[in-house]
Amino acid sequence: MEEATKRKAVKVDVPKERPTEYYGKYVFNRQKMFEYLPAKTFQALCKAIDNKEPLSREVADSVAEGMKKWAIDCGARHYTHWFHPLTDGTAEKHDSFIEHDGKGGVVEEFSGKLLVQQEPDASSFPNGGIRNTFEARGYSAWDISSPAFIMDDTLCIPTIFISYTGESLDYKTPLLRALNAVDKAGTRVARYFDPEVNHVTSYLGWEQEYFLIDEALYAARPDLVMTGRTLMGHESAKNQQLEDHYFGAIPSRVEAFMLDLEIECNKLGIPAKTCHNEVAPNQFELAPIYEETNLANDHNLLLMGLIAEVAKRHNFRVLLHEKPFAGINGSGKHNNWSLGTDKGVLLFSPGKTSKDNLQFVTFITNVMAAVHRHNALIKASIASATNAHRLGANEAPPAIISMFLGTQLSNILDEVEHSDSAETLDVKGREEMNLGLSQIPEIMLDNTDRNRTSPFAFTGNRFEFRAVGSSANCASAMIALNAAVADQLNQFADAVDAAVASGKTRREAVWEEIRKLIRYSKPIHFDGNGYSDEWKEEAGRRGLDTETSAPLMYDAYLSDQSVDMFGRTGVFNRVELEARNEVKWEIYTKKIQIEARVLGDLAINHVIPAATRYQSLLLENAYKIKELFKGDKADKISRQDLTSIETISDHIAEIRSEVEAMVNARKVANKIDDEREKAIAYHDTVVPRMENVRYHIDKLELMVDNEIWPLPKYREMLFIR
Ligand code: ADP
Ligand code: MG
Repeated sequence: MEEATKRKAVKVDVPKERPTEYYGKYVFNRQKMFEYLPAKTFQALCKAIDNKEPLSREVADSVAEGMKKWAIDCGARHYTHWFHPLTDGTAEKHDSFIEHDGKGGVVEEFSGKLLVQQEPDASSFPNGGIRNTFEARGYSAWDISSPAFIMDDTLCIPTIFISYTGESLDYKTPLLRALNAVDKAGTRVARYFDPEVNHVTSYLGWEQEYFLIDEALYAARPDLVMTGRTLMGHESAKNQQLEDHYFGAIPSRVEAFMLDLEIECNKLGIPAKTCHNEVAPNQFELAPIYEETNLANDHNLLLMGLIAEVAKRHNFRVLLHEKPFAGINGSGKHNNWSLGTDKGVLLFSPGKTSKDNLQFVTFITNVMAAVHRHNALIKASIASATNAHRLGANEAPPAIISMFLGTQLSNILDEVEHSDSAETLDVKGREEMNLGLSQIPEIMLDNTDRNRTSPFAFTGNRFEFRAVGSSANCASAMIALNAAVADQLNQFADAVDAAVASGKTRREAVWEEIRKLIRYSKPIHFDGNGYSDEWKEEAGRRGLDTETSAPLMYDAYLSDQSVDMFGRTGVFNRVELEARNEVKWEIYTKKIQIEARVLGDLAINHVIPAATRYQSLLLENAYKIKELFKGDKADKISRQDLTSIETISDHIAEIRSEVEAMVNARKVANKIDDEREKAIAYHDTVVPRMENVRYHIDKLELMVDNEIWPLPKYREMLFIR
């Protein structure tokens, strides 16, 4: 343990080239395509990527040949289809390029068929019953919109993963469908303002928070190793009260790690930009420059794998869990999200002219309406056993989705709502002034009026969805959000088109619909303190979803409203939604089950023996005092020991009985067949017992001799020097 706190920074192997030279070194980007593919293939591939078209077999073969050559030039020996199953993280099955050459030797082969489609034997991935064993085949198919890359010595080909019958078994497939839906619907509405628009793109800029811990301390905490969080541990006397970590200098060990990580990110084409300390001790953040959502999400998943590898090189372990340590801030992954046209206009960014600003208000109000209508679903999209420790627990944001707009945008919307549209619009040449929309102040672009307590905040040219968990696949949130907004934009366009068909001008029709949306969305708009108890009550009165149990939040995926919305946008059919919920409930149960087992073991095998040992020491001491001092004096002195002995006994007894109750609750829950009911039972009956066990263990930690306590404490784990 001593060594752990004295470790020196590891020297980083910094490339001789400038970052601009090694950036994207291991990515088969357009530059590499141009270099390694015949001109005709290059053009066909670019066209397919740009227009989202399938590749012909002939082109695929030629691409595979060029890609293989590039990969081998980079030292790769294997290739894999890289996909995102419904578990945490990513999956891959490595094959080597080697094939028999028919003469007793081997050649390095990679055909278009292998590039484009494979059938991983993936019956062990969660599928919610979609793939029964008799049709245990799933297909992985190349997602040409995301470039292939090389990790270690393996060519990784980003793929979707679907069942034999076409249902999605991954995150990427529905994400691509949702992005396609928002492209179509967004383009339809954006064309009201600029008929030249061909595409609307969804952008994502994630901010990954994480904790670092020394590997020796990590190894000494079985709970961290097995569950990613500390299941026990009393608060350190000093934690984040002084807010000195946030502003403090980065320790040199961590600085070396960050530099190494940044270099590795850059080589893989991840535009890592900011690395800094976060609020809690040992907590840090990495944020790249935002990218198209599908690519950004691939990069986040890649980063989550990479960060673990790089941390090990520096004798650290990285904790991506939402709440590794109780009593200090947890980790989230803010999803900065926006929409933009292929004409370079960011649709949530106020413009210079009245037309631009009408477009801005149109898109903003549609997002508000979508988030309002689907607030329960959007919350469900970020709900998990691990994120439950942040949401609705003792830490913000609360388990309620609301939107922060800020004073300026709120004022603008008020103005739109209350101005007399007909008159305003009739007065030619004055409309800009009267609409007030051309005068949106520039400072909005650099919105400093930030409310950190809001789970979904407007931040000047984008929305920041802050409730996403640090270990989550962002796709879950991005699917729900983009699909909901796509559906809302379509409804909006339908209403506008109908009004135009009945004789209104387009501008009037847009104006009228915007005002309806502003009125409709009022309940979701909240600029106040999201941490307050009053807000929880107020949100309930407003009809927002206030459910705090993750297994029950998942029900929102199966409401008629959600099923219809996902059906209309083509993102999920009912079978997929039902199967996915099965998986969500199952994962919830398993996570709590593992935690409960680990906690039971630690309580009985580590904590109670240590407490008992200390108790015996106290007893021995009490006897000796009695012998030495005799009479009243002895009583007085040993009374303190006796009180401690008694308190320790009480805590031990409580731990034993709570562990027993926890085990029994688990046994009862395990007998339930229905996945939903089982998850609810785990939430309602197992989790509260775990909290009780922890309470008594943490009390003992304060009493028992430090020498005897079997686990590293918070104060030891939380301060890297
Ligand atoms: P903060 O911590 O203050 O929220 P950061 O600079 O850490 O800000 O992160 C902001 C993230 O938002 C970055 O990933 C940035 O690229 C991203 N971002 C900026 N503008 C947009 C936009 N229009 N759409 C999506 N993401 C954006
Ligand atoms: Mg942020």
